[in-house]
Amino acid sequence: MEPVNIIGAGLAGSEAAWQAARSGVPVILHEMRPATGTFAHKTGDCAEMVCSNSFRSDDDVMNAVGQLHWEMRAADGLIMAMADRHRLPAGGALAVDRDAFSQAVTEALRAEPLIEIREGEIGDLPAEGNWIVATGPLTSDRLAGSIRSLTGTEALAFFDAIAPIVHAETIDMSVAWEQSRYDKGETEAERRAYINCPMNRDEYETFIDALLAADKTEFREGETAGYFDGCLPIEVMAERGRETLRHGPMKPVGLTNAHKPDEKAHAVVQLRRDNALGTLYNIVGFQTKMKYGAQTEVFRMIPGLQNASFARLGGIHRNSFLNSPTLLDDRMRMRKHPNLRFAGQVTGVEGYVESAAMGLLAGRMAAAQARGDDLGPPPFTTAMGALVNHITGGAEAKTFQPMNVNFGLFPPLEEMRGGRKGRKDRYPAYTQRAKDDFRAWLATQ
Ligand SMILES: Cc1cc2nc3c(=O)[nH]c(=O)nc-3n(C[C@H](O)[C@H](O)[C@H](O)COP(=O)(O)OP(=O)(O)OC[C@H]3O[C@@H](n4cnc5c(N)ncnc54)[C@H](O)[C@@H]3O)c2cc1C
Repeated sequence: MEPVNIIGAGLAGSEAAWQAARSGVPVILHEMRPATGTFAHKTGDCAEMVCSNSFRSDDDVMNAVGQLHWEMRAADGLIMAMADRHRLPAGGALAVDRDAFSQAVTEALRAEPLIEIREGEIGDLPAEGNWIVATGPLTSDRLAGSIRSLTGTEALAFFDAIAPIVHAETIDMSVAWEQSRYDKGETEAERRAYINCPMNRDEYETFIDALLAADKTEFREGETAGYFDGCLPIEVMAERGRETLRHGPMKPVGLTNAHKPDEKAHAVVQLRRDNALGTLYNIVGFQTKMKYGAQTEVFRMIPGLQNASFARLGGIHRNSFLNSPTLLDDRMRMRKHPNLRFAGQVTGVEGYVESAAMGLLAGRMAAAQARGDDLGPPPFTTAMGALVNHITGGAEAKTFQPMNVNFGLFPPLEEMRGGRKGRKDRYPAYTQRAKDDFRAWLATQ
């Protein structure tokens, strides 16, 4: 049987190799470390955790990432099995002993007779075979060049510039209103495509003070090469002058406050739809390196967002990722080059767990292909399905930025109450539906 070749033995590639081999398909797993390193990895082990040692919440009832843990355990996931084996006490979070964890993943892969681990960098995308590219946020320069020459330079980003994303139901629409600047657009939906939050002069000045005073994270050494390419953090814009934001992403022109038509706003924060479901909105132009705690505090100062709940907070990192909504099909294959399947952070998911989950899917799909079968993604009512649906079609391609798993990606339950108060009933209903549907998907294999 033709082997599945996997490039990168990180969180995604390791899980993909495990899944393919466990379903009886031979695997060749190519890893460039330790001979060729990255600025963040320290070892030659598989599935190295480069920063925090946490897989985040393990609550599979009230938390979307906990639900993703559940699905990966149900699918015999190696990453979850080894994380459980090397778990450290951390309250409701799943934290692990990182060295013991990645050594255990490496040993499990080495002990699996159908997996061969080959050391060395793959510099060019292969034209034939059944390949999974799982080279992560720090894909080697040579391979990144090869991806760009195949897809076009716009299709592979080297930095993310993540603006915070808000659950739409938590925006106070008695303060905010829907309108596109100058009412532009052919259809009513286009003319109402943005949600606008107005600020008067005092609110704007207080907001600028808070931005300037907020705690920020620093880039790591070696991370910034090629950075300041037009993705300035808002706090850096504010440092350049107190009026800069008012002439940039917060300009108030072409907008009329639907609640107070006679009042001219001093500044306006705009939010744009982030997914086809319309459940998520990103704050336009608000990429930031403020620490997470500071972001929540500062962004809730924006009128209309005083009770906002954030599906994800902003950030800017060195991060190679594809414009997956335009490039990948729902089997995670490159539409124009179906011999290449992508997995992990390079597909535009964000985080250890999400990356490993995409590896799990890609491994199963590639194995099905090797056996002459076809495996589709789980329904998008599941955490894994919601994530893969987002990156391969649900997300806006033009503004695509990496995404964590969150309940905003799940199809809403019509009968459930919206807003922050309804979560107590809604989240368990989402995770129960996800478990039922994930079990049914597994039963088809
Ligand atoms: C500095 C930094 C800090 C982060 N902190 C966190 C955090 O705290 N929590 C979190 O959840 N996520 C964090 N992330 C994101 C994290 O990288 C991903 O969540 C996760 O590691 C991605 O898994 P992956 O398998 O896609 O990539 P990786 O785990 O990076 O694996 C990719 C593998 O591919 C190899 N490779 C690359 N190019 C080639 C090539 N051409 N040939 C052969 N092998 C190659 C690499 O050596 C690597 O082993 C961080 C990322 C970075 C860069």
